[in-house]
Amino acid sequence: MTVALVGAGPGSADLLTVRAASLLSVAEVVVYDRLVDPSVLAMAADDAELIDVGKRPGGSHNQELINELLVALGRRHERVVRLKGGDPFVFGRGGEELEALQAAGIETELVPGVTSGLSGPAAAGIPVTHRGASHGVTVVTGHARAGEGVDFRRLANPDVTLVVLMGVANRSSIAAELVAGGLDPATPVAVVESAFTGDQRTSRARLDELGGLVVASPAVLVIGAVAALELGSVLELARRQR
Ligand code: SAH
Repeated sequence: MTVALVGAGPGSADLLTVRAASLLSVAEVVVYDRLVDPSVLAMAADDAELIDVGKRPGGSHNQELINELLVALGRRHERVVRLKGGDPFVFGRGGEELEALQAAGIETELVPGVTSGLSGPAAAGIPVTHRGASHGVTVVTGHARAGEGVDFRRLANPDVTLVVLMGVANRSSIAAELVAGGLDPATPVAVVESAFTGDQRTSRARLDELGGLVVASPAVLVIGAVAALELGSVLELARRQR
């Protein structure tokens, strides 16, 4: 009768929390998203039922169905794990799922995960805060329905790192709005694709070149002075240690 909302981290299974790994190992059912890596699913119990509810980018039409499925599974099973990429409460609609479960009287648990919003930059050797270069970090979505999105002109702040999730498709307009808001067109940017997976790739440029970069989702856009830093690739270091 417990549904655990569990953060799966940005990619490789060794970035799961110990609590996530332990819940996976005893789960009867695991409901997972598109961005959850196969290596993470492999940590589920051998006889666990795996249910893919992966949504395409921008698709939100089946969230209601996912909520209903979780409620039904929660009523039928003792241990259900709802695995979400990164951290469940960072653009994962985890809050909505917890609300639906709690409204149905089902016991819930939340297990935070390593979010791509902070670990994506780290994978490329970029600290999101750094003395003298960045006094903070803002994590926002670059995806929105027309007229509903973030007003990037108001986020133009040279003292704070900006990390944009789901921002690949709108990268040109995001850059243009930031410049319109007063951010220097020469501000460093980095795009980190598929952080902590075998396909990880980093592209670096200036803000006014962001639109011209050839990049694909999933990726985080990192905008600010720290995007020029490369303090050793975390992925490379991890590989060397193995
Ligand atoms: N809850 C997730 C975010 C879900 S929104 C988290 O905390 O990480 C999906 C967006 O996350 C993608 O469009 C991309 O911007 C980012 N993302 C997820 N995994 C990523 C990865 N391995 N590398 C780079 N970006 C990633």
